[in-house]
Amino acid sequence: MTGTRDAALRPGGSAAAERRARGSADGSRAPAPAELLVVGSANADLVTRVERHPAPGETVLGSDLAVHPGGKGANQAVAAARLGARAALLARVGDDAHGRMLLESLRTAGVDTAPVLTGGAPTGVALIAVGARGDNTIVVSPGANARLTPEDVAAAHGVLAGAAVVSLQMEVPAPVVAAAARAAAAAGTRVVLNPSPPGELPDDVLAVCDPLVVNEHEARGLLGGAGAPRDPGEQARALLALGPRSVVVTLGAAGALHRGPGGTVRVPSPAVEAVDTTGAGDAFTGALAWRLARGDTPEAAVRFAVRVGAAAVTRPGAQSSFPTAGALPR
Ligand code: ADP
Repeated sequence: MTGTRDAALRPGGSAAAERRARGSADGSRAPAPAELLVVGSANADLVTRVERHPAPGETVLGSDLAVHPGGKGANQAVAAARLGARAALLARVGDDAHGRMLLESLRTAGVDTAPVLTGGAPTGVALIAVGARGDNTIVVSPGANARLTPEDVAAAHGVLAGAAVVSLQMEVPAPVVAAAARAAAAAGTRVVLNPSPPGELPDDVLAVCDPLVVNEHEARGLLGGAGAPRDPGEQARALLALGPRSVVVTLGAAGALHRGPGGTVRVPSPAVEAVDTTGAGDAFTGALAWRLARGDTPEAAVRFAVRVGAAAVTRPGAQSSFPTAGALPR
C-alpha cells in the first residue's frame, strides 16, 4: 500500500522509541507515548437537509452543504483527547482536502496523528441527507478507510504495545480489526471493541474484548435478532457467554450496564435534555476506553462514560458535541 505517515518517523520504529527515551536532538522531550490507541475510521460527513428524500432516478434540492469531521475511530479519539487523554489514532485518509480537514480537527482536539496514514484512495465520505422529520439517508464511501491493512497495524506496533488500551470499531476492514486485537492481546494491551457496523468477529477476537461495547440494537444483532432476550441484564449475560472477558451494554437515556466475571453493575445516565444523539456512543466508548487505560475499575469507567455520553447529547453534531472534562453533568 502506498502512502505516507503523518510524521517523518514511524512511531513504532526503533528511532521513535529511542527518541522517546532520550528526548529529541534539540534537547526538548518527545511527546509522551499514547495511553490509548484508537484504530478505526475517519470520514468527512457531508450533510444537506432535504424536504423529502429523492426516489431512484429523481433529483431534489438540498440546503447548503455542511462538512463535519466524523467516522467512529476519529470520533472516539477526539472524545478521549478532549477529556485530557493522551490518545493516538491509526487511520487512513486521502491526500485531499477532506483528509487535511480531518487531520486538522484531530490535532485541534489534541489527538496524536503520527500514526495516521495518507493516500491510496480518497478520504472516506458519508453523504447524509437529513429529511424534514430528522429521518436520515446515508451513503458511505469508505475510500481510504477500506485501504487500511494488517501491515499498517504491524507498522504501528510500538504505539499499540506502548498503550494501555486499544479501542476498535468495525468501519475498517475486518482483517485490520482482527490484527489489531490479536497484536494488542499478545502485547498485553487491553482491547475495547464496539462491533459497529456489525460484521465478521472471529472467536479469538471476541475472546480478548474487555469489554465488548454494544448498544441494545447491536446486542440484539449479536444474539440472533428476534430470539434475543429483551432485558438488558439478560442480554449482557448472554453476550458474556459468547466469549468476551466483559460486556458493556449502552442503554441510551437509561445509561449503561457492565457485566464481567464479578457480576452486573447498572449505571444510570445523568438526566439531560437530549438535542442530538449523534456520536453519543462514540463519546461514551472513547471515554470508557481512556478511563480504563488510566486504571479505573470498569464500574468507575462506566460511571464516567455515561456522563460523557449524556453531555454529548445536549449539543448538536458528533465531535462538535463532545465535552471537555470541565463540562460534564453530575
Ligand atoms: P448509540 O449512540 O451507540 O446508539 P446509546 O444510545 O446507548 O448508544 O448512547 C450511548 C450513551 O450515551 C448512553 O450510555 C448514555 O450514557 C448516553 N446517552 C444517550 N442518549 C442519552 C439521553 N437521551 N440522555 C442521557 N444520556 C444519553
